[in-house]
Amino acid sequence: MSFSFQITKEVSAGNGAKARTGLISTPHGVIETPAFIPVGTKATVKSVLPESMKELGAQALLANAYHLYLQPGPDVLDEAGGLSKFMNWPGPTFTDSGGFQVLSLGVGFKKILAMDSTVFRRDDVIANNKERLAHVDDDGVTFKSHLDGSMHRFTPEVSMQVQHQIGADIIFAFDECTTLHNTRGYQEGAVERTSAWAIRCLDEHKRLTDERSSHPYQALFGVIQGAQYEDLRRAASKDLGSMSSSGLSFDGFGIGGALDKNALGTIITWINEELPREKPKHLLGIGAPEDLFVGVENGIDTFDCVLASRIARTSAVYTMQGRFNVSNAPFRRQFVPIDDTCDCYTCTHYTRAYMHHLFRGKEILAATLATIHNERFIVRLVDQMRQALKDGNFAQMKAEFMGQYTFKQPQAIG
Ligand SMILES: [Zn+2]
Repeated sequence: MSFSFQITKEVSAGNGAKARTGLISTPHGVIETPAFIPVGTKATVKSVLPESMKELGAQALLANAYHLYLQPGPDVLDEAGGLSKFMNWPGPTFTDSGGFQVLSLGVGFKKILAMDSTVFRRDDVIANNKERLAHVDDDGVTFKSHLDGSMHRFTPEVSMQVQHQIGADIIFAFDECTTLHNTRGYQEGAVERTSAWAIRCLDEHKRLTDERSSHPYQALFGVIQGAQYEDLRRAASKDLGSMSSSGLSFDGFGIGGALDKNALGTIITWINEELPREKPKHLLGIGAPEDLFVGVENGIDTFDCVLASRIARTSAVYTMQGRFNVSNAPFRRQFVPIDDTCDCYTCTHYTRAYMHHLFRGKEILAATLATIHNERFIVRLVDQMRQALKDGNFAQMKAEFMGQYTFKQPQAIG
């Protein structure tokens, strides 16, 4: 086995929770944690070369099992020698299980909006006039491809088979993802199903690991559901944390499902109090700067989020002063970098005015340059948090960043 996690330092964040630094070792290299893992959904970070991702400090990339299952098909990745080789990314890789993508098909989940229960409405979570394209039963999920309308079925076994063929270093158990809109009763059922599926994932993972013993070891992370309910989150964590089947237990854990932004720290604390301390914890789909601080101070080791690259393609860029759209009129003649404290390729070579011009002209280079900047901004921010934990000044670093970041955000949006 060539997967391990070593905690190198633990720091109390004041509320009983412990932040930590560590090292995740995989067959394709080591990840220094806490770390932000950029998303390359279809085995590519849209519009950016793998070399540029390396240069901007990405330590690992996360791809999506659902998308790669539909296209090109997991057998193609298997034949290519696995995800890392296929996409020319020599470093560590993750795949998510496909659960979130399959279950959100057609219902218009808007996870970012739905994260804040004080502002979300039903319409934000379930889009009107949308046919539900996925149906859950106790054995798995039947869904319609968003590409050609063909019918498919994911079960825990299928998800493991697909993720073994894709061959990422860290893979996730197949879970039932819910939204904050689901009823308490439904959340209970989803936690029970996720638990039953977790055992089936361990069994199938063991079978495939033995059958494919010539392939590099893949670590399997269990996924904790339970939405905003303390008893459900604690029960799910206790259950998966001590779960063992076919002689295997989970190598780490993902925190998934509906997360109320305002309760993020509290929810992570409940989970951490139940899960084994020595295993790595990944916060699925979270990547806004303010949320990354909450995650790190509560002991999260890795994060992934598609937000940095997705918003980049709409001209939204992060700066130390907040987020703004560089295609907006005020930036037309600003011959300064997007962020003058940023060390990325885009900020050291190009101006806001040039970026504004590329977006207005619908030039594809706009997406490349904006994505490089946003990914660097988030990767570097988490790197700075890791350094602050090592130096013992995390609280000060957070206060300085948040003071600046939130203070100027409203006017930067205009
Ligand atoms: Zn930059």
